[in-house]
Amino acid sequence: MSDRRLTRLHAHEMARGLRAGEFGARELIEAHLHLAHATDRALHAWMFLDDDDARAGADRADARLAAARRDGPAALAALPPLLGIPVGLKDLVVTRGQPSTAGSRILEGFVGPFDAHIAERIREAGAVVLGKTNMDEFAMGSSTEHSAWGPTANPWALDRVPGGSSGGSAAAVAAYHAAVSIGTDTGGSIRQPAALCGVTGMKPTYGRVSRFGIIAFASSLDQVGSFGRDVRDAAALLQTVAGRDDRDSTSSPVPVPDFLADLPDDDDLAAGYLRGLRIGLPREYFVAGMETGVEARVREAVSALESAGAEIVDVALPHTDYGLATYYIVAPAEASANLARYDGIRFGHSVRDGDVLADYLATRGTGFGPEVKRRIMLGTYALSAGYYDAYYVKAQKVRTLIKADFDAAFERVDAIVAPTSPTVAFPLGARLRDPVAMYLSDTCTLPVSVAGLPGLSVPCGLSDGLPVGLQVIGRAWDEGRVLRLGRAFEAITADAEWRRFEPTDLPALDDPSTPPPRVPSIPASGRGGD
Ligand code: GLN
Repeated sequence: MSDRRLTRLHAHEMARGLRAGEFGARELIEAHLHLAHATDRALHAWMFLDDDDARAGADRADARLAAARRDGPAALAALPPLLGIPVGLKDLVVTRGQPSTAGSRILEGFVGPFDAHIAERIREAGAVVLGKTNMDEFAMGSSTEHSAWGPTANPWALDRVPGGSSGGSAAAVAAYHAAVSIGTDTGGSIRQPAALCGVTGMKPTYGRVSRFGIIAFASSLDQVGSFGRDVRDAAALLQTVAGRDDRDSTSSPVPVPDFLADLPDDDDLAAGYLRGLRIGLPREYFVAGMETGVEARVREAVSALESAGAEIVDVALPHTDYGLATYYIVAPAEASANLARYDGIRFGHSVRDGDVLADYLATRGTGFGPEVKRRIMLGTYALSAGYYDAYYVKAQKVRTLIKADFDAAFERVDAIVAPTSPTVAFPLGARLRDPVAMYLSDTCTLPVSVAGLPGLSVPCGLSDGLPVGLQVIGRAWDEGRVLRLGRAFEAITADAEWRRFEPTDLPALDDPSTPPPRVPSIPASGRGGD
């Protein structure tokens, strides 16, 4: 099979081909490495590709496939779904012997002494890690422009952002460099880049996946999740990493259902799930500033769900407006504590400047970028004596109200659908000088994170030639239903015209004269935003 055909397969199609002996894992991985090396200069989705490690993983997968083939069909069928499948890891997943910078200069030169829980699980499942993907520094951002190592471009339009903070993971899947990838979502960092890159992104319930070995941003919000080019692929990767791990006391003992068993390949079967399903539509999510094309695509998606038998129910989530303010107290407060460990003594970047305090100031002053410094300032302020009650404690109370809104809605409906992002991918540089405009990118995803609920983004069409995402929100631990609704939406839109489009700027990636992504210089007085 040609490299081009191999890289365009979905993970579940790759799995079928590997079991049928149509191609080997080594051939599959070589095709992906080749494409990623050839086209990443203009995309910058990857921090690094580890060819040797990936090839060794592919050979191990081929050996497992050969052994299972000798043992017969039952052994082949029992193999893990992601055996031999190419995966990308966000650059905040610690792996033994490999760098992880979390997009920050302060972790330059840091090499992981152990594997994150999810990296162990991915390896046990025989999936093949190609390398680490670019991200906003410490996952703070919505565009991947806050990476200390330069931005990632959107494969649909190279002068636009891929979203963030997991922009590298989303772009790598959209550009066919990997079938699936790992991201983390603290306030939207899986769902928003999935929407902007036209792929599927799944953030599970807080506590569903272990954070052991994940470089922390905001501990009560951070969740590991997955990207794929369809719901089944994102579900397969979530299945692989989900479940209790004793090394993360916030990881839950709630049993992990068999997500894949409920996601049929057959479209009619998948669509049948919608009959009688009660789906809430929150009016507060059609926010001021939402692009008309985005709103139109989301409303068309809702109509399609209704035509397929779902009951659409108007629901109110009255505290939605406070999601942003709540998040921007809680997340920076926790970040300021988590980031105190980067002292120039224990990890990575270190500047000596006299005594211990001077070393600390010089290391942190040169190691952290401007957005991270802004968050540390906001966080330490919110936690300081005299302000703690007024900001942090108040924010935690509002957090409870936001959660209560969802609880009330879920008494009436089985799931909620909403836009993922109020806009399509914006131009590189457009929001960089205006932090609040950047923060507004996440208005539709933040409340879900604040409430700890599962959220999925699936592609639902194009606006001005750029992807739009539909967000599916579920009750806590109800990822199964969220994924089935997403799969059903795929089934009822399988023949939609927009599904025939793929990222439009892929040919430019092949052209060696296409420049690497960069943020255009903006005059200091210029304000970004739409
Ligand atoms: N954009 C949000 C922030 O900057 C969310 C990021 C995330 O989910 N990691 O904090």
